Parts: sequence; structure tokens; C-alpha cells
Amino acid sequence: MSERRYSFDVVVVGGGTAGIAAAIGAAKVGAKTLLIEKNPYFGGALTHSSVFTICGMYSMKDPLELVVGGVGGEVLEHVRNMGMSYGPYRNPSTKNVGIIVDPEAVKTVFDRMLIHNKVIPLLHCQVTNAIVSNGEIRAIECFDHSGFFTVESKAFVDASGEADLTAFAGGSIRAGKHESDFQIGSLVMRIGGVSHINNLERTYIYEAIKQAKIEGVNLTKEKGALIQMPGSNDILAIFADAQINGLDSFSITNAEMYTRDQAWKYINVFKKYVPGFENAYLVQTGPSIGIRETRHVIGEYTLTGEDVIEGRSHEDSVALGGWPVEIHAAPGKPVIYKQIRDLSYYQIPLRALKEKTTKNLWCSGRIISCDQTAFGSARVMGTAFATGHAAGIAASLYAQSGNVNYKSVQQHLIQQKALI
Ligand SMILES: Cc1cc2nc3c(=O)[nH]c(=O)nc-3n(C[C@H](O)[C@H](O)[C@H](O)COP(=O)(O)OP(=O)(O)OC[C@H]3O[C@@H](n4cnc5c(N)ncnc54)[C@H](O)[C@@H]3O)c2cc1C
Repeated sequence: MSERRYSFDVVVVGGGTAGIAAAIGAAKVGAKTLLIEKNPYFGGALTHSSVFTICGMYSMKDPLELVVGGVGGEVLEHVRNMGMSYGPYRNPSTKNVGIIVDPEAVKTVFDRMLIHNKVIPLLHCQVTNAIVSNGEIRAIECFDHSGFFTVESKAFVDASGEADLTAFAGGSIRAGKHESDFQIGSLVMRIGGVSHINNLERTYIYEAIKQAKIEGVNLTKEKGALIQMPGSNDILAIFADAQINGLDSFSITNAEMYTRDQAWKYINVFKKYVPGFENAYLVQTGPSIGIRETRHVIGEYTLTGEDVIEGRSHEDSVALGGWPVEIHAAPGKPVIYKQIRDLSYYQIPLRALKEKTTKNLWCSGRIISCDQTAFGSARVMGTAFATGHAAGIAASLYAQSGNVNYKSVQQHLIQQKALI
């Protein structure tokens, strides 16, 4: 087999919301950019774990306060123009604001935007290693069905959700609060055959689950999220939780099989007890269990819970976070929320996206440098778009000159309609 070797200005590892924004941001600044994703489509948890509510585009403030623009804003504008989203929608009980999108529309929007912005897309490819010398990643090793190949680049963005690239490069990372202590995973169920869902059905559902538990049915959670899909009458239900170590395929397998079994238990309970659900059926689970948390990169600055809750500013701000701290600590346990001051936003400094020890490496999305409390907020997809966008621009500027000044990152972000 001939040795395959490719060369780029910027390589982004992971094509979730953070990676998409990073790659487009880098390409808009002129970098020859490769975006690598192991799944058959881009979107990460959005498309691969059916997380269809994009949170963090708006703060909790009333009237609405937009905190994310740039690439994330463009994505949502295209989906809205296709008539395949609704919102901003304020949840009547939590008062959180989200935008609900159709997954097939989003997949296509990502494809079109990547092509339009001249990003080179690479699906079905897993990054397996990094080659480092003199404090810089020189190249990464990738794997597809032809075997291994090498990709060189001047700068890199880790948008892998699990900080794979940083770990492979021997960079600075921590895992969860401490080793093997992560927020839980959940398997999303997509349910068809139901005409609509409102607060009355929600009450029936919670009562049905309580009743089934009294009768001895083993169900994880009594109260979960129920979301009406755009473009169909399908409903998304997030009830099946599991403790999971998303870095270990044995643990992921156990959690997938356990939560799939839970999904069938829930659907049978809904069919039996909830009016309007008599003909309900499971359209799909996953495809993958959603993994909220594994490794975090340690950056030049670590965003703290106080920074988030106090709504603090930073001179080198490159993104805004407007989602409250949301912690899923244990299966079946209620979600813990902590609000941001004035229900508004906090700033995210460029230093929290700059890996500490590797000169040409930035991080984005749910792995940015933050403590456990800050992570509960910064992990959502609106914020991931924003941190990805900034990381991509920083990497692109580094590829051009070997130097990054936060003011020029801010200038490019503002030109690209980001909110900082
Ligand atoms: C059950 C659940 C419910 C959630 N609910 C919401 C919600 O309602 N709203 C909200 O905004 N957020 C929600 N979140 C959080 C949010 O989905 C994630 O934090 C967000 O998607 C993070 O984006 P990301 O781009 O950083 O990572 P991801 O979306 O995880 O994307 C990372 C990508 O990198 C790829 N990748 C990883 N390693 C490699 C490798 N070695 N080689 C190649 N590719 C690789 C993965 O395949 C993946 O596509 C939820 C999360 C879960 C799990």
C-alpha cells in the first residue's frame, strides 16, 4: 500500500457544532482547512445523538437577548429558511431558551456551508495519534478502511468532544471532576404516532412512570425532557440515563445496551397509560448514546464557576455564554441549575481555548478549559458554535504568522458577525 500524506494550514479534529464553526471560521480567514469526522455526517451530538434543541444562542433574559452570532447564527438562519426549525422557544417551566431543529435539514446545511466556505470535509475518518516535536503538533495519524495515513498542518483545533487530539499529543488534560467522574450519559428516544405534546400529556407521562415503578417496572427517571419536533409530529424524550465512561468502549457498550432496553420499557409504559399514546412507536434511539463529558483541556486560563455565575468580563473575550449551569450528576436524579447573574451572560477568554503546552493547538466546544461548574454551562451547542468559531480563527492566524494576538482574533470575529 502506498503511503498517503496530506498537508494543510489548519486541521480541525471533530465535526460537531464546535468543529463546524472552527473549520468555517479558519477558512474564512484564508486557511486551507481540513475538517475530520469519524461519523458519516457532521453535527456531533446534534445529529448523532438526536440533541435537536440548540441551547445557549440566547441568555435567559426577558425580553430575549441574543449572545451567539457568527457561524452559529448563519447555520440557524439557513435551517429557519428551510422551514425546519422553531424558536427561540422559552421552556415554560425552566424559562430556558432553545431553538429546535430538524436533523436532516441541519446535516444538509452543514454540508452546504462547508462546501461554500471551501473547507475540505473528511467523514468516516478517525484520528488515532499525533506527532509532536519542539512543542508543536507536526502531523496526525488518521485511519480509514485503507489503513493509516498522515496529515500535516501548521495549526490544529481539537473539537473532538473527548479531547482526543490533545491527549494523543501529550497535552494538558483533566478528566471529569476527577478520574472517571463524569456527568451522566442519556439515550434520546424519538417517538412517532403521537399527535402533539403539551403540559397535560407531560403530567400524564410523569404519573404513568410513577405508576409503572410502583408496579415494579425498572425505569431510570420520572421527569425528563419532552420536545415536539419541527417538520413532523414526532416527539423527543430524554429519560434513559446511564453512568458512562465515554473514553472506554466497554463502558459505552454497556450503557448503550442498558438505555436501549430502558427506551422500550418507557415506550410500553407510555402506550399503556398515557392518553393519545396508544399508537405511539419508537422511531429511533440515538443513533449513539449522548455522552456529556469526558476529558477537558487545560488551557492558559481555566474558566471558573464564579466567572460564569458572576457574569464576568475578560479583556480577551472571544465568545459569550448565556446558558445557566446545568448539571446531570446521577441517573434518575433531578438536574441541578445555577443561574448567571441578571440572567444574562459571561465572557469566554481566548486563553481558555489555548492549550497550555502545545504552541499550535486550540480547543473548542465541550472540552474548553473550565472547572466542573463552568462546564455545566459552556458545554451547550450555541456556546460550542461560538468557542469553535474563535478557536478556528486563532488557529488560522497562527498558521499565517506563527503568532496570535487576541485583538486580531476579536477583529475577525466581529467582521464575521460573532458576538464577543
Ligand atoms: C443527552 C444529551 C442532551 C443534551 N442536551 C442538549 C441540549 O438540549 N441543547 C444543547 O445545546 N446541548 C445539549 N447537550 C450538550 C451538547 O450536545 C454537547 O455539549 C455539544 O454537542 C458539544 O459539541 P462539540 O462540538 O464540542 O462536541 P460533539 O458534539 O461531541 O462533537 C465531537 C465530534 O468529534 C468527533 N470525534 C471525536 N473523536 C474523534 C476522532 N478521534 N477522530 C475523528 N472524529 C472524532 C465525534 O464523532 C463528534 O462528531 C446535550 C448533551 C447530551 C449528551
